[in-house]
Amino acid sequence: MSSATSSVARVAYLASDIIVDSQPTLPSTSQFAKEYSSLSATSSRRPTILSVPLGGDPGSTLLRNGSAAGLISFTSSAAAQTVIRLVLDAAELSSLPLVLHLAVKNDLSEVLLLHSAIPFFLVSRTPQQAHDNSLLASRLARTEKKAVVHVFYNAVNDPVEVIPESEVQPFLLSEKLASTNGMNGHNGMNEHNGHAISANGTNGLNGHSATIVSPGSELFKLYERAALSTVVRIRRACPPFSVHGPSEPHTVIFGLGDIPSVDIDGVSIVSLSLLTPLLPSRILDVIPPSASRVIILEQLQRWNTKWTPLYLELVNAIHQREVEQRPHIQSVYFSDPAQVIPLAILKLLQAAPSSAPIQLGSTSTSSNLSLEVPHVPKHESSYTKILSHVFGERLEVSNSPDLVLKQGAIATSPEFALGRVRGQLDQRNELTRSVQKLLEVKDISPELHKLCSQWVLVKDDDAKSRSVGNELITALESSKFSSPIIDRILALRAHFPTRSRWIIGSDAWSYDLGASGLHHAIASGLNINILIIDTLPYTSRNSADPHRRKQDAGLYAMNHGDVYVASVAVYSSYAQVLQAVMEADRHKGPSVVLAYLPYQNEDAPALEVLKETKLAVDAGYWPLYRWDPVKEAQGKEPFALDSDAVKNDLQQFLDRQNHLSQLVRSKPELATELVSSLGENVKEARRKKAQQAYDDLVVSLDAPPLVVLYASDGGTAEKFAKRLANRGKARGLSTSIGTIDSMSIDTLSQEEYVAFVTSVAGQGEPPQNGRTLFKALNAAALRGEKPFSKLRYSVFALGDSHYWPRPEDAHYYNKPGKDLDARLEQLGGERFADIGLADDQDADGPDTGYKVWEPLVWKTFGVDSIEVKEAEPDPITNEHIKAASGYLRGTIAEGLEDTSTGALDPSDTQLTKFHGIYQQDDRDIRDERQAQGVEPAYSFMIRVRTPGGVCTPEQWLQMDRIADEHGNGTFKITTRATFQFHGVIKQHLKPSIQEINKVLLDTLAACGDVNRNVICSAIPSLSRLHAQVYNFAKLVSAHLLPRTTAYHEIWLDKKMVAGEAVKDFEPLYGEFYLPRKFKIAVAVPPTNDVDVFANDLGFIAIVDEQGELAGFNVAIGGGMGVTHGNKKTYPRVADVIGFCTVQQGPAVAEKIMLTQRDNGNRADRKNARLKYTIDRMGLDAFKAEVESRLGYPLAPARSYTFDRNIDDFGWSTGDDGRHHVMLFIENGRIQDEPDRDFKTGLREIAKIHKGTFRLTANQHIMVSEISTEDVPEIKRILAKYKLDNLNHTGLRLSSSACVAFPTCGLAMAESERYLPVLIDKVEKVCEENGLRNDSIVMRMTGCPNGCARPYVAEVAFVGKAPGSYSMLLGGGYYGQRLNKIYRETVSEPEILAILKPMIKRYALERNEGEHFGDFVIRAGYIAPTTSGKEWYEGMGGEGQYREAAAAA
Ligand code: SF4
Repeated sequence: MSSATSSVARVAYLASDIIVDSQPTLPSTSQFAKEYSSLSATSSRRPTILSVPLGGDPGSTLLRNGSAAGLISFTSSAAAQTVIRLVLDAAELSSLPLVLHLAVKNDLSEVLLLHSAIPFFLVSRTPQQAHDNSLLASRLARTEKKAVVHVFYNAVNDPVEVIPESEVQPFLLSEKLASTNGMNGHNGMNEHNGHAISANGTNGLNGHSATIVSPGSELFKLYERAALSTVVRIRRACPPFSVHGPSEPHTVIFGLGDIPSVDIDGVSIVSLSLLTPLLPSRILDVIPPSASRVIILEQLQRWNTKWTPLYLELVNAIHQREVEQRPHIQSVYFSDPAQVIPLAILKLLQAAPSSAPIQLGSTSTSSNLSLEVPHVPKHESSYTKILSHVFGERLEVSNSPDLVLKQGAIATSPEFALGRVRGQLDQRNELTRSVQKLLEVKDISPELHKLCSQWVLVKDDDAKSRSVGNELITALESSKFSSPIIDRILALRAHFPTRSRWIIGSDAWSYDLGASGLHHAIASGLNINILIIDTLPYTSRNSADPHRRKQDAGLYAMNHGDVYVASVAVYSSYAQVLQAVMEADRHKGPSVVLAYLPYQNEDAPALEVLKETKLAVDAGYWPLYRWDPVKEAQGKEPFALDSDAVKNDLQQFLDRQNHLSQLVRSKPELATELVSSLGENVKEARRKKAQQAYDDLVVSLDAPPLVVLYASDGGTAEKFAKRLANRGKARGLSTSIGTIDSMSIDTLSQEEYVAFVTSVAGQGEPPQNGRTLFKALNAAALRGEKPFSKLRYSVFALGDSHYWPRPEDAHYYNKPGKDLDARLEQLGGERFADIGLADDQDADGPDTGYKVWEPLVWKTFGVDSIEVKEAEPDPITNEHIKAASGYLRGTIAEGLEDTSTGALDPSDTQLTKFHGIYQQDDRDIRDERQAQGVEPAYSFMIRVRTPGGVCTPEQWLQMDRIADEHGNGTFKITTRATFQFHGVIKQHLKPSIQEINKVLLDTLAACGDVNRNVICSAIPSLSRLHAQVYNFAKLVSAHLLPRTTAYHEIWLDKKMVAGEAVKDFEPLYGEFYLPRKFKIAVAVPPTNDVDVFANDLGFIAIVDEQGELAGFNVAIGGGMGVTHGNKKTYPRVADVIGFCTVQQGPAVAEKIMLTQRDNGNRADRKNARLKYTIDRMGLDAFKAEVESRLGYPLAPARSYTFDRNIDDFGWSTGDDGRHHVMLFIENGRIQDEPDRDFKTGLREIAKIHKGTFRLTANQHIMVSEISTEDVPEIKRILAKYKLDNLNHTGLRLSSSACVAFPTCGLAMAESERYLPVLIDKVEKVCEENGLRNDSIVMRMTGCPNGCARPYVAEVAFVGKAPGSYSMLLGGGYYGQRLNKIYRETVSEPEILAILKPMIKRYALERNEGEHFGDFVIRAGYIAPTTSGKEWYEGMGGEGQYREAAAAA
């Protein structure tokens, strides 16, 4: 069985050189494309297949490609839009060797539009006929170089006898046969009586029509010839029409379409399969003199003119007969074949003949493909939602898909919309004139007069035109005065309000601005807004059809001079989209808003759309800008660039228009960034080459050369490479060293001895600075090249055999090194020493493997017996950098002045951390920029110091402004209850810090090896206690601040102390500062919202019987950071060692910190935190040391109880009568998103709020200290911006994620962007099991550093590689117990498979009040963790549960 589509697709594929396939509306895919793809697997033919999106311009693609092809076929499901586009080019298409295969369903209205312009028009009803006519059409088009329309129905599956593949081409290319007129079986065949209707014009019945000459006869002969060849080949009749019925009928029905056979006495039915050319003589042949009536039955939903082409052909033919011999002609339409029943025909026959067409049955709309409301892909609603949000009732989408039902598919085209807008504007003008006319009428009432004149005054006002208009309508309706003017006004009432008129379309319109109708809309001068959504992902931009050049509709419109143009991307800047659509609406003329929304398919996750958007915007492929020509007329700058990079063509336009200077002025950093595109790597590679050439020449003319190349992300591979190079030099070799990517295949092929050292990144990928050469090597191997005939090489590969514990992942261990080793051999290289494998798990880590491999290298050069003193320079460590920094100055100030790079010197980036600044680069676009040879997109993260997490509304507003003016437009509340900005470029660092300083905040010691931001509980209801602990937090923070003046000098332009000499002194820290970071938290039981046990030092507030703060229990040694696979590292919860009073607190904090300063491990940063110092020294010894420094012992710890570590959401009232509201801000990100304008909402609150904001360590915000009279207004704003929505699951409210991608340089996997997506899925499981409101603490981090404190969560995920996480279970609900690794590597499907049964069991079997973390231990899923040092013991789950989960 075969469908007509598969038969047609097969013939098109085997017969054509080029196929152009028209795509249907998303999310459907082309049926033909599926067939082509399966044919490509079985057939030896390889036609070029091009696709045209719906709304695109197939005509121009066919014209461009058709003239060079032997045969070009177009395949389409005949969507109306596609056919209409073809009509525009039909005249030119008609002389191409082209077959237009158009699938139809119950309607020929659209395809018949092509009838008069294309020379041949065939119709197939069955799959066999579709196969045969496809062959015929292909032969005809190919041999006669003329276009053929082949329309076919695809409703049925029938057996089809197909031509073998091997015979298709010979058939198409075979000699033309002479027409034998009626001898070949392709003649019309009377099925009823078997009489032949010969193609030469005699039907054997009446023989009277042979003398009629038709202009179509030449074309018909061509058709005949092709039909004859086809019949000879397929041995089946291929008639232009078939006749069914008696030989002397009284009525002849000519049927065009899917007409079932009906037997009615005296009626013969002629089914046409050739519509053009249709010779009059052939028509007359089948209308015997007995026929007094001819019915033309056509399958048409609608026809815009009175008569159809077939009707006209028949009338023309019949009029060649004598008047008295002419039968009466009736035109009848139908759509559903089920309507063509004998009874319906009989009724037609009984009815008096009518001169107008008659409709048989009702018109079906639902069954017709072209009349379905087009599907709007879900992502695109981001823009339509914004439009409805901004314009509300005023919004009028003039080509709304809903109009298709009434107006047909054309309703979505810009031409249609433009016509509609023009009509509406005309009507509004008429309304205005009518109202003005009414004003002139003397007898109208004063009230009516007033309303009329009011409306005329406010008719362009968005709000008032509607309200006054409504009043006027009411007044007119109730007016006793009657006048035709009033009737007319009421008839035009819909036009009283102003409208924001939009035409929304796809980038397919941009392929041919003229044909798409876009040009007309842009040139119309009408007040119309056009939104063009471009969905082509940046990463697929090069795979688009290279011949179909998309024009830049923005530039085109800008060149018009009077058009407002904006280029926006909702996933890059929501605020800019809002601004652009509002400006477009205000512009009194055409506006074009180009909107970017890249996605491959409708199911593409939002994260993908976000990443693609970012890539495109950051690379300048999709610049964000606004062009307002009105400003130019006012002498202002019309161009505003809202992103940091522009495309060449846009830049050229701006240059031409002299706007680039302005562009550079408004964004001074662009000037250098635009020109400094030579990346560090490229420059460095050139410099090294030059140096090497010089060294080669003058230093070691005789010594064997050794090139050492490394690829390293973390620095370890680089360290080994440098060691090898130094030792080679010491042995007299001429060594040089560089990154793997500093070599191309060409330069590498010139080398003789090369040693490669590489580590592993991500999931077995090469590190960043080796990827380009790795790719080039793979490509060369694919091409079968052998460029390395000279090269001798060896590879040293570093990895961790334990990193991927599952057997199926074992191949990731040292993968890049192993791949490189094999690839070099494949490309002709010869190993001089076997690959060396280094394993972090070996006794000495990678040194173990290195010690085996290195001697092999020296052996190759014959220098293995040379005794050398290893003179390796000491590595530069953070300790050296700190000591040499001049109390944290380094060369930061100089680096800020250097405009040739967006980065700071590497050692300065260690120092800026102490100033609260981290250098980062955009990880999403790192590869892309590397490929372009430009340096990474460097930017900085700035972290503010807000002790106790409290800020004023003024400070909030300043943070909001800084994010917009200097950062990426958003900011984050961090797990240390402070503000963090991302995306601040180097030139904006200093202004940002200065503006932070203006509101009395700073960033000093927010990061670095010092005491960081001191956090404290938010405790809304305990106002007095909060005031006390907050003051304590501030006091401790101030007490432990570094004293260096470098901060003020570098950032605030304060002079150096005593001229040029650095006279700083650090009484607490000294010049080496601390071995590692130091964190302090103050908790107020029963809430542990600061996770006090995860801090180096925790103060647990103890309240006396009077409710006064008596002092604190002191807890020490908490810490989260771990290194994957390194069992020397582990998380730890703090131990309570005693009690101190409030007054003693700062000194206690100081002495604990100093004990750590003097005893922490400065040789190994991975082992330097206080937790390791305590475990190394012993808790008692450490405590004794602290007490000895204090000069008194700590008092015994007092009792306390914690019951939660999550925030208390919603409203509460403090004991001072003031009110507080805790808002849920998912993962602390403050930004505006569609439907959640949180950033704007919080700004609005800050503008009127008289209290404070409290930031929490769970990354949420409390609007605090609200007086009773201000509560309603705060509530109103919260409701307006949906900030009061706390209707989330307990799981989501208890969740937390760190930043991770794209900004954190240490991230191995997504976190902030992914956790909400994972929770979407896990909360469904919770809801199914009745746990919607149950709190389960779930946390995620992008790497094991653990910023979101994952190791005390009940369930946690710690990133290992993109999409891969360690899964941990069993943390204490209020942060009192560590969890433990349950699975070392899981991806989302595994996470869900593990959690589903676990959560179900928890719901069914938990004890009263039992938390999930406790349950998984009791149920035996995981062992409890009793101390940090034992963290690895019993990991991986227990007994049967491990197996059960593994099976899942
Ligand atoms: S946990 Fe790791 S990935 Fe997440 S923010 Fe901290 S360092 Fe970055």
